[in-house]
Amino acid sequence: MSETAPDAVAAAKRLFARSCEFVAGAQTLDQIPTLSLPEIAFVGRSNAGKSSLINALTGRSALARVSHTPGRTRQINFFQLGDTLTLVDLPGYSFAKVSKALAAQWQRLIFDYLRGRPNLKRVILLVDARRGIMDVDDEAMSLLDQAAVSYLVVLTKADKLTAPERDAARTRTGFALRTHVAAYPDVLVTSSLTADGVDLLRCHIAALAG
Ligand code: GDP
Repeated sequence: MSETAPDAVAAAKRLFARSCEFVAGAQTLDQIPTLSLPEIAFVGRSNAGKSSLINALTGRSALARVSHTPGRTRQINFFQLGDTLTLVDLPGYSFAKVSKALAAQWQRLIFDYLRGRPNLKRVILLVDARRGIMDVDDEAMSLLDQAAVSYLVVLTKADKLTAPERDAARTRTGFALRTHVAAYPDVLVTSSLTADGVDLLRCHIAALAG
């Protein structure tokens, strides 16, 4: 996943330039909407850079603003991209270490969402490139393995690393994925600051939209 045809990049850019509207927020199973478009969900530890990357992908700050609104950070937020895709912003999970009750609540909501979601094409799991996969990420990945949901690990904040450090992070992460059955084998390295890897991620997602 290191090179992409210019046509594919342009088509993916066009897709992400389309309108992107907030559709629904869900804190409980009964609030999770039934939607028919292909779906891509984003997840990661809080502070992994999820909002920044979604902004970089869509070129808008509206999505992240919604998801960072107090009261909405613990809910699943659904956005419709043009008439093509649903982008799903899943709540961050750093609290897993802090509070067992919150961790259990998070798992429950995520499980409720993942169950019976046939249009979910891929989960994009964001990991801070400087930290690599931590125990909580590993737990989240195991949950996705259990739910048999295909996920792509995307390293974020690559601008904070030198080129050799980036390569090492990618290799280390790829190695860690080998024990996870539902993980997509490639690892994408991105920076929302420099837009490195953002075109590639757009192409990956656009290909899933069909
Ligand atoms: P979220 O909690 O996962 O949504 O994370 P945010 O997108 O809010 O980012 C957390 C922090 O990391 C913020 O201070 C961002 O400015 C910073 N950040 C996010 N992405 C990048 C990046 O690509 N490069 C750098 N240098 N900082 C980033």
